Amino acid sequence: MAKTYRRIDTQLVHAGTPEPRILGAVALPIFQSANFEYAGESGYDAIRYIRLNNTPNHLALHRLLAAIEHAPAALVATSGMAAISSTLLSVLGAGDHLLAQNCLYGGTFELIASDFPRLGIEHTFIDGDDPLSWQAAIRPNTRAIYVEAMTNPLLEVADLRAVVRFARDCGLISIIDGTFASPVNFHPIDVGFDLVVHSATKYLNGHSDIVGGAVIGSTELIERITHRMNHLGGSMDPHAAFLLYRGLKTLALRVRQQNQSALTIAKFLSNHGAVTRVNYPGLETHPGHARARELFEGFGGMLSFELEGDTERAERFMYGTRIPIVAASLGGVETLLTRPATTSHAGMSAEQRRQLGISDRLIRLSVGVEATDELIDDFAQALGSYQ
Ligand code: PLP
Repeated sequence: MAKTYRRIDTQLVHAGTPEPRILGAVALPIFQSANFEYAGESGYDAIRYIRLNNTPNHLALHRLLAAIEHAPAALVATSGMAAISSTLLSVLGAGDHLLAQNCLYGGTFELIASDFPRLGIEHTFIDGDDPLSWQAAIRPNTRAIYVEAMTNPLLEVADLRAVVRFARDCGLISIIDGTFASPVNFHPIDVGFDLVVHSATKYLNGHSDIVGGAVIGSTELIERITHRMNHLGGSMDPHAAFLLYRGLKTLALRVRQQNQSALTIAKFLSNHGAVTRVNYPGLETHPGHARARELFEGFGGMLSFELEGDTERAERFMYGTRIPIVAASLGGVETLLTRPATTSHAGMSAEQRRQLGISDRLIRLSVGVEATDELIDDFAQALGSYQ
């Protein structure tokens, strides 16, 4: 019987390892082989082939991700968007309707708003905080509800328990993007979600050197998504799988450091005279604070803020820092700064961003694992020269 482990720290180091270890190797080697010798497999999905996501590197990741997300099954994908699109296209078809939170990651937002209508898949964007309005938006052909654990870039926390209750009452499949929280801070399956998706590019891998995705849930749903992804072709390359498996080993260490550092930086920024607004669920002033406290074990490493002045001044601040890198993406060991209006949310119109409260001068910060005091000194000097 496969060994099981109680705590996430132990699971991250040991869960998923082939038993017995392959030739005794302590680190799981890369199986860079497209195909494998026929071993009597019956059925298309069982033949060993990289596109079918079932080589030893994939299977180790599936076991590990299922363990840390407290679910029976998991599937990796070539990117977060491959995981999200394959998942949604497995539970929705032409003539179906989706309820989706209105402040989603830009790529997901565009997939639902621009691509799905061409496939005959309808949607309504909903306010994650207003369960009464969901009732008004539901239709006889609604099949699923899709939300994010914390929204990008405002770090709002929807009424996630109400989403689960609503989905159960209405017979919908509930799907959550857990990327921003990571499994160290939040276990959506324990709260009752049917499926969790991740951009593994971010915290799960943590080293900004691959793109990857994952979906985790029941055996039945993951089998459905696997079959669909086998046709859509969104499988993960074995080398990326090797790196993701290695990156995951330090997930808990990284995320706990990032939680602590982000909270300290959020407090520093909110006390600084040049900062007019800080969005971080760990701050008592954040509207999602009570909910985040109840649902999450940590508040995460992401925050966003606005400075006095215009967009050009925000840019001057970003380029006036020495340690952070001005770059899109998040969740790596290095601290990153970006303006969502030019990166993650560039696909939305200015009016859509305005309605959601994403101003052009909003700066998003992904806190890395550098020394917190050195980051704060750097922000202080960049804010000082900005004033
Ligand atoms: N979900 C969230 C919350 C994201 O921030 C991103 C990317 O930034 C994605 C999904 C898409 O992931 P990927 O870039 O790995 O396709």
